[in-house]
Parts: sequence; structure tokens; C-alpha cells
Amino acid sequence: MIERRAIVVTGVVQGVGFRPFVFANATRLGLVGFVRNQPSGVVIEVEGGAPALDELVRQIRVAPPPLARVETVSAAPVPLRGEALFSIATSEDAASESFVIGADTATCADCVRELLDPADRRYRYPLLNCTNCGPRLTLVTGAPYDRERTTMAAYPLCAACKAEYDDPRDRRFHAQPVACPACGPRLRALDASGGEIDGDPIDRALQAIERGEIVAVKGIGGYHLACDAESERAVAELRRRKRRDAKPFAVMGRDLEALARLGVIGEAEERALLSSQRPVVLVARREAAPVAASVAPGMSTLGLMLPYTPVHHLLFASLGQRILVMTSANLTDEPIAFDDDDARARLGKIADLFLVHERRIATACDDSVVRVLDGRPTPLRRARGYAPEPIDLGGELALPTLAVGGHLKSTFALGASRRAWVSHHLGDLDDYAAYEAYVAAILHYQDLFRVSPARLVHDLHPDYASTRYALERAARSGLETLAVQHHHAHVAAALAEHRLARAIGVAFDGTGFGTDGAIWGGEIFVGDRLHLRRAAHLAYVRAPGGDAAIREPWRMALAHLTHAGEVSAPLAARVGARAIETVRLVLERGINAPFTSSMGRLFDAVACLVLGHDRAAFEGEAAMRLEALAAAAPREARAYPFDVTVDAAGAMLLDPRPLLHAVVRDLGARRAPEVVAKRFHATVAEMVAHVAKELRTATGIADVVLTGGCFVNAVLTSLTASRLREAGLTPRVSRLVPPNDGGISFGQLAVAAAHDAAHRNVEVA
Ligand code: ZN
Ligand code: ZN
Ligand code: FE
Repeated sequence: MIERRAIVVTGVVQGVGFRPFVFANATRLGLVGFVRNQPSGVVIEVEGGAPALDELVRQIRVAPPPLARVETVSAAPVPLRGEALFSIATSEDAASESFVIGADTATCADCVRELLDPADRRYRYPLLNCTNCGPRLTLVTGAPYDRERTTMAAYPLCAACKAEYDDPRDRRFHAQPVACPACGPRLRALDASGGEIDGDPIDRALQAIERGEIVAVKGIGGYHLACDAESERAVAELRRRKRRDAKPFAVMGRDLEALARLGVIGEAEERALLSSQRPVVLVARREAAPVAASVAPGMSTLGLMLPYTPVHHLLFASLGQRILVMTSANLTDEPIAFDDDDARARLGKIADLFLVHERRIATACDDSVVRVLDGRPTPLRRARGYAPEPIDLGGELALPTLAVGGHLKSTFALGASRRAWVSHHLGDLDDYAAYEAYVAAILHYQDLFRVSPARLVHDLHPDYASTRYALERAARSGLETLAVQHHHAHVAAALAEHRLARAIGVAFDGTGFGTDGAIWGGEIFVGDRLHLRRAAHLAYVRAPGGDAAIREPWRMALAHLTHAGEVSAPLAARVGARAIETVRLVLERGINAPFTSSMGRLFDAVACLVLGHDRAAFEGEAAMRLEALAAAAPREARAYPFDVTVDAAGAMLLDPRPLLHAVVRDLGARRAPEVVAKRFHATVAEMVAHVAKELRTATGIADVVLTGGCFVNAVLTSLTASRLREAGLTPRVSRLVPPNDGGISFGQLAVAAAHDAAHRNVEVA
């Protein structure tokens, strides 16, 4: 018996070769009907025998195309129409295609095979791609997504490419960036002054690397600077020219085997490295890793990645097991270079050779960074490969909403109904070029996803560039605004991601503006996305010099020592009696010394005492070094003591003074610094466990979300999660958005959705 069904598929099913996949299966099964994109997903009307119809649904569920993510499949009977064929229908309405823009995806295995096959017409073609791989976000100039609105518009397809593009059976059906040597952009090698160098550009680049030179490589979302990662001379020179004192460089190797010589790659790391996002994955560095000392000085981790563009594959085809530094091409703090003229101007003094293709990059996008925390991967920087794929908000927005995020590691998030488009990482908004890119990206996303915000959500901090942007724009256009406290946003992001109605929310980070005007950062809440009670926090100490205390951890060390009534002779000897005296006065008088409960600053203080690391090249550097030390400790370590009292508002106050006494005593007794660092981490884990147990007793809530920049620390996250599990609690770590401030924008949207739900009186799930 013949029947007809209307099947609706939702999830990531557009722009990922889903319609050709349905076409291929329906045709194979002898079904007739059509498949079409619609705003909510893909709709398929098919006619045929019940077993064939069931089989089609099964294929959609179990074997969708590689980049698709099927969320729901529903089917309903509809009247027969008796078409002769199965077809791919064009969308009735152009706006229905507006969700189709996907993330940039690493070159797929089929394309790599063609790239290296001398018989293929795309042999060694450095810009090959197909429906399953290649650039998306970085080349789109407008919506809806088709070739006219990409930076490939300037390259008309040749007859062979056109035939592939039009054939639903072909892997390149409707692959917008498709190109070949006959019709697509070329690759060239240029010298530092822009002159073209004769010969094969890949060979020229390899020769430069061989000579120990630095090569600027144009990639998907911007330029990389590449050099021989084993040559200390080359890497140190790159560091000198880039003026990047300490931030680690990422390293690329041909395959897992090449990377496994450098770092410990467990199962979760392997999955992350091989994923189609191809992020930089932070792994524990091997003692004898064959990598120049200047790649990641003082770090116990290395950032590793696998090739993800045809150019990378061509380079590594000749490099074998050798490894390259592949670091974003920028001067310290500036955004990544992506425009060709700008790149040549900015990188002319850094790179000896440029390996460039002619495909214009419309939107700059950095490499993503992933770390395995408590056994599973978490993005620490969500950019290429992830953005702009929407994330389910776990709640419904009543109004189209823009959440402008934080200030450092910034992202914004655009939301409509249940969808959140969290932007790619846009960097620190202190930098004016980064701020400009941030504003441009907001407008670009609004255009791409056809969302015109009626409401702006911002941080409580009045001086964040993002807050000022939101308030100015709201004043200009009469939009609604909603201010969300920084750590509330951190916790709400985790609640939304894990679909928790309520939880104990731990937010440990460097800085966030508190509702009492102090700088928060060692906060434990309990409640839901809308109402969070500050149930515990680290005791306040003064941060002498405000922002100077971030760059100079010795100031926080002195603040915590003074708070504890301790003195440290080594600290005084290192920074000098004059400086100590000045800061002591600042602490006493409280001028330009705001109160802070920051856990990040406590890490800085202890790192300074243990490591003698008085000045930080970037925020969190001291804490990263302390983690490296703790990771090297031979065994488990007992927690140091701490006090718990109650503050005027009834919140538990975590008093670190006993901890400071113990650290000073241990260091005075020449205890191994690895052990002191490990014991400090164990103490912070114990603080969380102590508070969480009390709160569980009081509220019955057993879910504990761990978020904030401190939880990018793998040692801290593991220790805390195990302590919580031992106590019968359930730790929850961020997996979709970064636990650091890159996740703030998503959290702000989650609060807005909860706000809307409260006004409609519905449960959030
Ligand atoms: Zn491909
Ligand atoms: Zn062609
Ligand atoms: Fe934060």
C-alpha cells in the first residue's frame, strides 16, 4: 500500500548537504516527493511503501551527513500526490534560507584524497572544498547564503565545476565556495615587500622554513605565522619580532603520531583533535617533547592541532613528522590579520615570506582552543569551526535579543526564540581594533540571521566597552535593556547548557562587577537562572592599584599577606622596601584599592609567593604557572586549613588567612613548591565541597556548576569534581561555551529567556 508522509527534521540540517543526502536515499528507495528547507529545519514529503518510508527515517536518524546534527524527526500522514520523481525544491521564501550559514570546517577526507591524487583534476589545488568541508562564516558577505553573497562571487564557475554544483548526486552540489585550478583563486608566494616569488609557492614556503625563516600563511579566518617548531633560533626570533613575551604558541603536526611525541593525547584529546572543527587542543606536554623552549615557556601544556586547510595538507605532505609553530598573525593584543593589504603592512616586519591565496576573508576568525576538563573537551576559545552554529537556549525569548557579553575574551550572542548565535571569539575590547571588529561582527550577524534586536542585555560593569555600546545603542534606538551581574551570567550559562532548573553555582574568576560595587570573583550562588542568592564568597581584601594588581601579582600577594598579618621576607627582598611601603600605604588608606573577593587574584597571590612570579605578561599567567607546578606534584596533597564565617548579609565567608599562614610556613620550611601548589589547589576544591555540602543540606540541591575563568584550570577542575562526587554531589562543567568570559554573552541571553518565562509563568527546562 502506498502512503505519503510529511517528515520534519530539525537541528543542524541546512548548509550541510542534507537535501542531497535525502535525495540520494529517497531515490535509492524508489520514493517520490520532495525535500525543502524551511526556517525551522528541513521538510520532506515522500510517497511510497511503508517499509521504504521507515527506512528513509531510519537513515536520517542513524546515518545523516557528517556535518549534520539531527535533533528531532517527526512524521505525519498527508494526502497522496503521485509525482513521478523525487526532487529538491527551492525554498519558497528566501528568508527561510537565513539559518543556513554554518561554521568553517576542516578539509574532509575525500577532499584530502583528491588533493594528493595526481589523477584528480584538483590535484594540489590549495583551495579545494566540498559540501562537507571548507569555509563558511569567514567568506559570507550577506544572507541568504549563496555564491553571490560570498567572497567567491568574483570567480565564475567553469563548466566542470558548474556541473558538480548543479548535480544533487555530487559531493559538491550547492557547495558555495567550490573552485578548481581552472576557475578558482590561486596561491602565491610573496617576499616581505610584496613581490611575487617564482616557482611552486608551497616549495618556496618549505624552503624558507628550512632556512629558519618565518612564513605568514593565509588560512581560513586569517593569517598564521609559521616556523620550524624545533628550531629555538627560529621560534625565539618569531617571539622577538611579534613582541609576544610569554603567551604560548600553538604547534601543528601532520598526524596524531607526530603530535603524540609532544604531548599526552588521551581518548578525549584525540577526539577533539580529529573533530571537524580542528581546534587547538591543550595537552600535557611530554618531558622530552622535541619542541623549542620558546614555544611555551614555563607551561606544562602545549597547544596542538592537525592540518585543516588544503595548504596545511600540502605543507605537511613534504614535512613528514616535523612540526610547525602555527600562531595567529598579530602583534600582542591586536586582532588577527585577515585583510591582505593590512596583513602585508602589519606583518611585513615579522614574516620573511607570505604564502597567500586570492580568496578574500570576509570575517576574521581565530583558531578555537579546546581543553579536556574532568575527562571531556570544553572550548576555552570558541571561534573557527564552532561559530556561528546556534546553541539551544533551553528557554524561549519573548523578544529578539542581543547580549553584548563581557570585556575580555569577548563574544556577543544574538537570540531569537530558543536559538542563541554566540559569536566567534572577538578578543579584549580594550584594543580599539578589536572593538571595531566587535561592532562590525554584531551588525554582520544581525544581517546574516535576520535578527533585529528589540532588547539589549549587558554586564553590570559601567566601564566595559560592551556595556557602553549597549547603553548608547539603546539610548539612540529606544531599545529595552537588561543588566546582568557578571557571575550571575556565568552561572546562568551553565544552567542553560545543562538544562538545570536550579543548581549550586560556583563562579570563580578574575574580575566581575558585584551588586555591592566591589570586585567579585570567588562566588558561590544557589538558585535558578533568574534568582540566584549569593550564598558564599571569598573574604574581601583590597586590590592595591586596581588593574595594576592584575599585571603585578606581588601586589595581591602583599594584600593577602597583610590581611593575614604575615610578612614575607623573600617578597620584600625581590620588589624592594620602597615599593612594599608604598603599597602598604595604599592598602591602609584604601585609595585606588577596591575590595575584591576574586579567586583569580588569590591564585595570583599564591603563585607569586610560591614561584616568585611578581609580574604577569597577561592576565592569568601566574595562575597558569601555578597550575603547571601543581600538575608536576608527585601525589595527592592534603588541603590547607581555611575558616568559614558568616557575613552581614548571611552569606558564608571563606576566609583564606589560615591558608596564607600555612603557605608561608611551608615555603619557609623549604617544602617542594610543587607540593605547596598542589595543596593550594586542593584547598580551593575543599572550599567548594564544604559550601556545596552545606547548601545541599539546606536546599536539597545536588547539582554543582563549576564556571568562571578559574575553571579552565584542569587540575582545579579535576580535584573539585572528584571532591564533589565523593560527597555525593554532581559536578557540571561547561561544554558548549567557554567557562571563561567567552561564555558571558550566552549566560546573559539565558537570563533574558528566564526573565521572559517568569513573565509568562512557564517552567524553564
Ligand atoms: Zn571536502
Ligand atoms: Zn572550476
Ligand atoms: Fe568572568
